[in-house]
Amino acid sequence: MTTWVEGAAGSLFDIDNLPYGVFSRPGEEPRVGVRIGDHVLDLSPVAAAEMLDVHHVFQEPSLNALMAEGRQVRTSVRAWVTGLLSDETERDLVEPHLWPVADVTLHLPVEVADYVDFYASLDHASNVGRIFRPDGEALLPNWRHLPVGYHGRAGTVVASGTPVVRPMGQRLSTGSTGEGPPTPTYGASVRLDIEAELGFVVGTGTALGDRVRVEEFADHVFGVVGLNDWSARDIQAWEYVPLGPFLGKSFATSISHWVTPIEALEAAWCDLPGQDPRPLDYLGPDVARGLDIAVEVELDGEVVSRPPYRSMYWSPEQMLAHLTVNGASLRTGDLYASGTISGPEPGQRGSFLELSWGGKEPFGNGRTFLEDGDVVTLRYTAPGTGGGRIALGEVSGVIEPARD
Ligand code: CA
Repeated sequence: MTTWVEGAAGSLFDIDNLPYGVFSRPGEEPRVGVRIGDHVLDLSPVAAAEMLDVHHVFQEPSLNALMAEGRQVRTSVRAWVTGLLSDETERDLVEPHLWPVADVTLHLPVEVADYVDFYASLDHASNVGRIFRPDGEALLPNWRHLPVGYHGRAGTVVASGTPVVRPMGQRLSTGSTGEGPPTPTYGASVRLDIEAELGFVVGTGTALGDRVRVEEFADHVFGVVGLNDWSARDIQAWEYVPLGPFLGKSFATSISHWVTPIEALEAAWCDLPGQDPRPLDYLGPDVARGLDIAVEVELDGEVVSRPPYRSMYWSPEQMLAHLTVNGASLRTGDLYASGTISGPEPGQRGSFLELSWGGKEPFGNGRTFLEDGDVVTLRYTAPGTGGGRIALGEVSGVIEPARD
């Protein structure tokens, strides 16, 4: 399959990728587009001209209406778009609706319903355990039996490019672990961090009381986004016992503009690195798969880490099965994140907490945590179904100073 769009063939946004996003042109309303090469295709007028049954979903300011149509519509729309962009006879109709990505504004692609964050990397969980609890077991007893997670704050999920204001709050000053009970101070976080993650976006919901089996993943998950779970480690360390992450996480979570449909990742599925002990049957230990996605963490223009998603212990399918095992229903727009992606090597760690080993071992150009003005960009690539590689949506953010 070859596309007629100039510059797209052989690029990271070739015809086997086709991620969806929401864009606008000056003076016009946001609507749904699909990316090909360095262009975005305005789907709404093309769908109307071809009298597609679901043409109305492309006029919406989010992907939710398209995602809610379900797996069958998702795959038929993808086949239709693939035809538009590869069939030379469609070119006269389609080409006037292609806009350079550089000339459009990209928006938050999804109206996020609920947001859940997991903790699925064995290397990340082990590293954090060693840093936060140096005298205890690195992993808590439940970790190898269930994908640990918590419910986050959907309303502060923002699009790539949105500045992140350094959070204020209660924190323990660095090194305040002397005699007597710890005493917090109030102020701007001095241990602001990233978490390089992948996010999974739910298209089709479920009824209250229903469960999603591991094999039903693609019936419910529409696609994948790049995700940065900004984290204030000093606020987090003071507040997280006994109920878990709260204000150290909820100030901002950034996601990519582009949502890569699950179908574009068909060549990226791979075996999990191995689960021991064998998970309970509802977690599908014989069928659950991993994803071979390469991640790059860039700080102020320099790559500081290359986490491999394929080293993740828990599968995205298992995370969804666990998220719904108690009958909690899913809604269109639900977002769940993988947790920080860290591999076994020091250069594969997906947070500054780990890269600097709790702030004790500066990395790169003498860095520990984020400084005002820092720009962090996360990039993701995967094997494409066409034999090359595809890019998932990148996610970027700049740190702004705390507000008085
Ligand atoms: Ca996280």
